[in-house]
Amino acid sequence: MSETRRRGIAERLRDGTVLGAEGYVFELERRGYIKAGPYVPEVVLDFPGAVTELHREFLRAGADVMVALTYYAHREKLRVIGREADLEAMNRQAVRIARAAAREGDALVAGNVCNTWAYDPDDASTAAAVRAMYAEQLGWAAEEGIDFVISETNDYLGEALIALEVKACRILADQGATIVGLNCDRGPQSMLSLIRAVRDAVDGPVAAQPVPYRTDADFPTMQSLKSATVERIFPLAMEPFGCTRFEMAGFARAAQDLGVSYIGICCGGGPHHVRAMAEALGRQVPASKYSPSMELHPMFRDGITAKDSTFLDAWNARL
Ligand SMILES: [Zn+2]
Repeated sequence: MSETRRRGIAERLRDGTVLGAEGYVFELERRGYIKAGPYVPEVVLDFPGAVTELHREFLRAGADVMVALTYYAHREKLRVIGREADLEAMNRQAVRIARAAAREGDALVAGNVCNTWAYDPDDASTAAAVRAMYAEQLGWAAEEGIDFVISETNDYLGEALIALEVKACRILADQGATIVGLNCDRGPQSMLSLIRAVRDAVDGPVAAQPVPYRTDADFPTMQSLKSATVERIFPLAMEPFGCTRFEMAGFARAAQDLGVSYIGICCGGGPHHVRAMAEALGRQVPASKYSPSMELHPMFRDGITAKDSTFLDAWNARL
C-alpha cells in the first residue's frame, strides 16, 4: 500500500468506525517478556520480535491502528528500573516496530504517552516535568514517523470524579484534540454508562477502549474487583472475571450504537477479542479465515458460534 493512499485518522473517523487494540503490556507480561510491577516495555529492546508478532496478531484481527509500545517508556519509569540510558533507543525502536507492522496492512501508527505518576495537580512544578517527558518521547516518535498521538490512562482525577472526567474530555476537545474518550480501568459494562456522558458532552469523535473484565456498578474498575476469598486480584489473578469474545463483540456494537467512532480494547485484550469486535462491526479481517466453524467439531457441533446471538442478546439486555 503506497503512502499516498493511506487515509488519515480524521478521514477514517469521518467515514466510519476505527477499531483500536491495546493491552500490549498485559499481554506481553503474560507471555513472559515484561515484568509485572514496574511494567516497563523492556521487550522493545530485549525481544523486538515478540512485539512485532503481537502487532501482527492485532493487525490480522482487524485493528486499524498500531500503537507504538511506549506505554511507561518515559524517563520516570526507566529511572525506576535503572535503564534511563535506554530511553531514546526504546522509544525510537517502539515506533519503528509499530511502523513496520502497520505497513504489512493498512493500519496507522500512533505514538503513545501515558500517565507518568509524576504529576500532582496541587503542585504546579510537576507539570513542567511531565511536559518535558512527553516532549522528548513525542519528539523521537515524530522523527521516526507517526500518524497521530494517543495520550492515555491519564486518570489522576480519580474514578470518583466522574463529572470532572467528562468535563476533562470536553476541555481536551476544545483544545483541539481530534478524538477524546476513555480507556483502561473499566470493563465494557461500567464504561458504557460513562461514555454516554462523554458522547453528550463533546461534538467530535469519541473513543472507548475498555478492559475485557466484568466490572459493574459495585466494582466499576478492574482494580476494585475482588474474589470471594481474596481482597485484591488486580493485576495478576483477574482471569475468572475475563470477558468472552462475545461480550466484547457486544460492547463493540453497543458502543457503535451510542455513536462512539473509535472502538477498542485495553489491558487484558487479546487478538480473539479484537477479531470478534471487528466482525461484530461487520468486517471480514485476515484472521476471519480461521474464525470458528463449530459445525465441523466432531462432538460440540451445537456449541456457541460467532453466528449465535444468544450471548450478545443476553449481554446487551443487561446494559
Ligand atoms: Zn489498559
